[in-house]
Amino acid sequence: MEKPTTHIALVSVPAFSHQISILEFAKRLIQLHNHTTTTNFHVTCIIPTLTSPTTLYSKPFFDSLPPSIHCIFLPPVNFDDLQNNGDSVENQVQLSTSRAMPLVRDTLTSLVTNIATPGGTVAAAAAATTTSNKVVALIVDAMATEALEFGKELNILSYLYFPCSTMLLSMCLHFSKLDEIVLCEYKDHPQLIEIPGCIPVNGIDLPDSVQDRGSLAYKLFLQRCQQYRGVDGILVNSFLEMEDEATRAISPEKGSGNPPVYPIGPIIQTWPGGPRSSCDCKCLVWLDNQPLNSVLYVSFGSGGTLSQEQINELALGLELSRQKFLWVNLRAPNDRASATYFSGDLVDEPLHFLPVGFLERTKGQGLVMPTWAPQTEILGHSAVGAFLTHCGWNSILESVVKGVPMIAWPLFAEQRTNAALVTHGLKVALRPKSGNCVVVKEEIACLVKGMMEGLEGEEVRRRMKELQKSAACALMEDGSSTSTIYKLAYKWKTLGISF
Ligand code: UDP
Repeated sequence: MEKPTTHIALVSVPAFSHQISILEFAKRLIQLHNHTTTTNFHVTCIIPTLTSPTTLYSKPFFDSLPPSIHCIFLPPVNFDDLQNNGDSVENQVQLSTSRAMPLVRDTLTSLVTNIATPGGTVAAAAAATTTSNKVVALIVDAMATEALEFGKELNILSYLYFPCSTMLLSMCLHFSKLDEIVLCEYKDHPQLIEIPGCIPVNGIDLPDSVQDRGSLAYKLFLQRCQQYRGVDGILVNSFLEMEDEATRAISPEKGSGNPPVYPIGPIIQTWPGGPRSSCDCKCLVWLDNQPLNSVLYVSFGSGGTLSQEQINELALGLELSRQKFLWVNLRAPNDRASATYFSGDLVDEPLHFLPVGFLERTKGQGLVMPTWAPQTEILGHSAVGAFLTHCGWNSILESVVKGVPMIAWPLFAEQRTNAALVTHGLKVALRPKSGNCVVVKEEIACLVKGMMEGLEGEEVRRRMKELQKSAACALMEDGSSTSTIYKLAYKWKTLGISF
């Protein structure tokens, strides 16, 4: 007899790293349930798009999703005006997602009612016919909060999927209060900023969106944070053992008025398998030939960029350190750190942007690849001893799961807050002292050497190994995050049983 199926709808945003996170959560839900229990889960993920649904590097990920996860890519929205205004990444993600909301609504209505609505997309109608079970819960990305009201309209449970740290979530849930009590710009605040359950941070380390209180970004951020309170629960991609105090501080039992918070992580990208690109092979083969823990892996995520001056200093600093390095997805220089966040544009010829003679001089010491790299595999390789990262939350969690200490090099969005957490809070990373200025080659060389060979590096490596163990515990069958997913799944299953 066919197993009963519980249907969950997800709403993501046009940013690949957010899509990876929410879909990996769906994969985990399905992996934990569909083989072992009497009920199956089916997940439909609605994805607003900006240009084509997938890119060269995201396609293998989507192609590898199991049949019980169905993605509906909405037609692209026009966001030229947002790009041209030089808006922040957060604004561009949120405003472009906003433009897709009428289609999100139609699609969800089709799924929930099992009928293609008159305004519904062809894709929605197709999904409604291929998945005959009604949706019992809606889970929306933290930047797609407008979709939450559709959950209420359609009378289904609505959750937020928060693909960042519990520290950032705590800040968001506390933000209306911060907005009241801090009267100046946060970066000018004379004291550190207090966030419930977290280490106090410098105002400058709060997310970009809140750095100009008169801006649209600030208004949207504040609005978003206020919407977080009205949901049935918040799934956060972190784990109790890593952010215990922050989780406790925001729990509803503390009289905070917050919704229940469910730490379900660390959820990280899992390699889909299948054929490898020649570049993937090249860097993995190169790593195979390096000594244990000897290589510094350098990456600025799916779209981070450096200025020409900073590229020069970084290259020369790596050279000066005499440590082995693997520097991937080198992009054309740009003074705006998030310049290629949506396009992920990479260049064919990194030579143009590196100091003259650098590649020749560092032959044997390092490898520079201007391409997308198999990051989780690289971090899991025994030759990799540290990760110089832009502190995107997925990259941090991947480093934690693989037990690789970090050099924190935040660029934009909430990355400085993440950097504060991993350096001062968890003490699993070192960070340059230069703050927001250009980090010079001497400081880079010193930091890299300290990380790879120094006592300070030894200490953060030891702490990272401890954190890696607790991450593995959280993911065990009876671990904290797995139990939380089971609890949620049980609730959804009992609501959604149908044949
Ligand atoms: N990533 C990858 N290969 C690359 C660059 C990035 O696999 O060459 C993946 C990385 O493993 C992570 C995601 O892309 O899962 C980047 O997410 P993160 O939150 O770290 O940063 P963002 O891209 O949002 O700035």
